Amino acid sequence: MDMIRFANPPVHDGAEALRHEVRAFLAEQIKGRTPLDRSESWNGFDRDFSRAMGARGWLGMTWPKRYGGHERSAFERYVVVEETLAAGAPVFAHWIADRQSGPTLLKFGTEEQRETVLPGIAAGVTTFCIGMSEPDSGSDLAATRTRAIRTNEGWRITGTKIWTTYAHRSDYMILFCRSGDSSPADRQAGTSQFLIDMKATPGMTVRPIINLAGQHHFNEVHFEDALVPLGALIGTEGQGWAQVMGELAFERSGPERFLSSIQLIVELIRALEGSESDAARAAIGRLTAHLIVLRRLSRSVAAMLEAGENPSLHAAIVKDLGATFEQSVPEIARTLVDAEPDLASTSAFCAVLANIVLNAPSWSLRGGTREILRGIIARGLGLR
Ligand SMILES: Cc1cc2nc3c(=O)[nH]c(=O)nc-3n(C[C@H](O)[C@H](O)[C@H](O)COP(=O)(O)OP(=O)(O)OC[C@H]3O[C@@H](n4cnc5c(N)ncnc54)[C@H](O)[C@@H]3O)c2cc1C
Repeated sequence: MDMIRFANPPVHDGAEALRHEVRAFLAEQIKGRTPLDRSESWNGFDRDFSRAMGARGWLGMTWPKRYGGHERSAFERYVVVEETLAAGAPVFAHWIADRQSGPTLLKFGTEEQRETVLPGIAAGVTTFCIGMSEPDSGSDLAATRTRAIRTNEGWRITGTKIWTTYAHRSDYMILFCRSGDSSPADRQAGTSQFLIDMKATPGMTVRPIINLAGQHHFNEVHFEDALVPLGALIGTEGQGWAQVMGELAFERSGPERFLSSIQLIVELIRALEGSESDAARAAIGRLTAHLIVLRRLSRSVAAMLEAGENPSLHAAIVKDLGATFEQSVPEIARTLVDAEPDLASTSAFCAVLANIVLNAPSWSLRGGTREILRGIIARGLGLR
């Protein structure tokens, strides 16, 4: 069995100077956000905030300048991402586009797709959603039944995508679907990715799904013989599986995989101020130590991505450990502070606790479930 190495990420002086700039920007930009708002983590949606991020040059940071990017390092981008998440900034209007749709187009998109779409992402004006999951195809993505058929006028798409976060507010979707045949021996064959214009695709309908917390983030997106141009194909027809697997390494390893309950940790520390409890001190110490280790592992994956490696196994480990950590925080908080979770409470601790309790179950589902990640890890360890 091979060792799984998480090499020490390199020190980057420029990145630390940037951290102070980002903190000053955030202190001004989001000073009106309440603790409850901040506990939305990456689900907060605010186009003005994303435009302000774009204007500072903090989106598309690593991309070539000719596409609106800034040719900075993955570590500088990491600093911007972790600072915005730790502060509870409303990042979603640029989140998917900056993290994974843009990099996918940069790698596989046509020149026309890159020129049309990437500058808008870097400016913080173009919003993306992910069209992967279907009612009968979540973990088993290769079971996708949505089908694209090539015609003379364009691709005709029929099928249903589900759990499509912020589809109702997105400009584009990257759709994963079947465009050809597969076989029992190669179920992943015959799949492709498409760039879907969410504002101008006849035959596409977006319907809301309300989540456990009563919020409208999810949608069902239905395609009924929907027509998209021939130029909407991303990359090579039939290579959708290989393309999408590369996208998942970007999706699974960032600081968003262990910072979702950071606002609750902040409120917990505030609630325990002045406490003489040894148990409280030990618990806060343990949470901090876990955070430091997770950050170190995640930065190591960022270094591998920067070096052009494919750290899918490492990313799965970070996401699994991160989700386990994030989900443990509400239970620890409830043990240390005697208070009822209540979204309407005037106590920041109670309101944030309620929001985190309602959202935490989803953290080990989104971006790949715990069981699927552990299957990937077991394979990486040579156990299956
Ligand atoms: C907050 C959130 C946001 C999301 N946003 C999006 C989005 O924007 N776009 C999008 O396309 N999707 C999105 N999803 C969907 C997400 O990708 C799926 O929920 C996930 O892939 C699991 O698929 P499923 O829900 O169909 O569950 P299933 O795949 O049906 O799994 C059900 C259960 O069975 C287990 N299981 C399944 N297969 C195996 C196996 N082989 N071995 C062991 N156990 C197994 C799973 O771990 C899980 O516990 C989002 C989900 C959440 C919670």
